[in-house]
Amino acid sequence: MAEVLYRKYRPTSFAQIEGQESVVQILKESILQGKVSHAYLFCGPRGCGKTTIARIMAKAVNCENFAKLGDICNKCDACTAINNGSMDIMEMDAASNRGIEEIRVVRDTVNFVPNFLAKKVYIIDEAHMLTKEAFNALLKTLEEPPEHVVFVLATTESHKLPVTILSRVTRFDFKLGSENEILNKLGRIVASEGYSISLDSLRLIFEYSGGSFRDSESLLSKVILTSSSKEISDDLVNKALGVADIKNIEGFIEGFKNRDVNRLTTIITEISESNDNVPIFLEQLIQSVNNKLIEQAKRGALEYEYISIANLAIKIRSEIRDFSDKSTIVNLALLSYFNREQMSATISGPPKLEKQVSIKKEDDVSLVEESKAEKKEVVDIKDKSFTEAVAIRAQSSLPRLKGMMNTAKIEIIGDEIKVSSPYKFNLAYMSKKEARDIFLEVARELYGKNLGISFSIDADIQIPAKNEAEKVENDDKIIEPKKKVDKTIDNSNLVEEIF
Ligand SMILES: [Zn+2]
Repeated sequence: MAEVLYRKYRPTSFAQIEGQESVVQILKESILQGKVSHAYLFCGPRGCGKTTIARIMAKAVNCENFAKLGDICNKCDACTAINNGSMDIMEMDAASNRGIEEIRVVRDTVNFVPNFLAKKVYIIDEAHMLTKEAFNALLKTLEEPPEHVVFVLATTESHKLPVTILSRVTRFDFKLGSENEILNKLGRIVASEGYSISLDSLRLIFEYSGGSFRDSESLLSKVILTSSSKEISDDLVNKALGVADIKNIEGFIEGFKNRDVNRLTTIITEISESNDNVPIFLEQLIQSVNNKLIEQAKRGALEYEYISIANLAIKIRSEIRDFSDKSTIVNLALLSYFNREQMSATISGPPKLEKQVSIKKEDDVSLVEESKAEKKEVVDIKDKSFTEAVAIRAQSSLPRLKGMMNTAKIEIIGDEIKVSSPYKFNLAYMSKKEARDIFLEVARELYGKNLGISFSIDADIQIPAKNEAEKVENDDKIIEPKKKVDKTIDNSNLVEEIF
């Protein structure tokens, strides 16, 4: 529903394209001068018009009136045929099935002359997803392209394309929309839909879109769909966009500085539960940290912590795109980040982190004393294995956890619970706050000690028929954790694979 306006106002000629002026200019000129290339590569961030311009290109190289008009006519036989879905224009998405089937279609059809049009056009979206075999097959075609064929490859990650391909394409770099370009376009849409909105609200939508035309139009759709009046108020825009509570942003920054992972995951879980706008929260967090850094830079005193928060938030933002359960993925990323940080601090940490680690150890000793006293009252799980005990504790609140643990390897090494599994989704489930709390709670009950916990993905893992987590049997060993440096390095590499 939210993409309605994006489709409705999608440009259908060069003249309607907002932004990308130099790209459009060069493409138009090359067609007018009869210098159409056999293969184009459109690189740039998502939502900046690569596929839209590829489709316009497909029409432009075929339109019978292009030379006369300097643009697509959308009326001639060729334009009409394309509008009705001509077989000569093939649009494929390399992300599905990694393009194996698509490249087979290219190979089987590329040498035949077009059915109706002057040029056959192959548009390959997400071209960086092609397999090595698909690239090789494509390369063969690009080496000796038939006269009647034009390829348009589109990608967000051109560095993933082989050099052999890059050297055979005409490359165009697309840019995100500027504030003016996006405001112009949104303003026009608002007017033609018969609504009114303040400039401040449009600016807010631009900020949230991060310069992506598609995202800005989706957000505007959302706002319009939410509004019962033709006059859209700023309040409604704030609500529709789910403007993050400033308290949450400040809380997150403070939690990060204090290495308070629980506070961070609680904030993320609450945001997700209240209105499901985790990506927008991250966006605003980045914006807010960015503003703080600019202020600090002016004073010549940058705080390293802010750079770390910005880097982490930017990384997480790009990771969560493909997942519907965003809060779980964010929480998993946070846990992995702090786990890795603690690990590297153990090897050779800066003084500040060492201090934190040592404070934590003192806390642990006192907690051990307390828990030992409590332990006598706990009778139901003390004779169980760690995973059995977790399953018992999870029975009422998280019944699926037991099954999830069967697909994972769960070990206690030193003072850490290590959960590894080849299944990303299962890991995400096991790492969510409720599950993590159970793991840690059971560890406290069984061992009288606060343990750390880490999650890593490992495709080659051997899952034991029955998980035996009790590698550490006696309390002395737990009180004096000993981390093996080589293990530590292995583990952080594994975590790196997920994020
Ligand atoms: Zn035409």
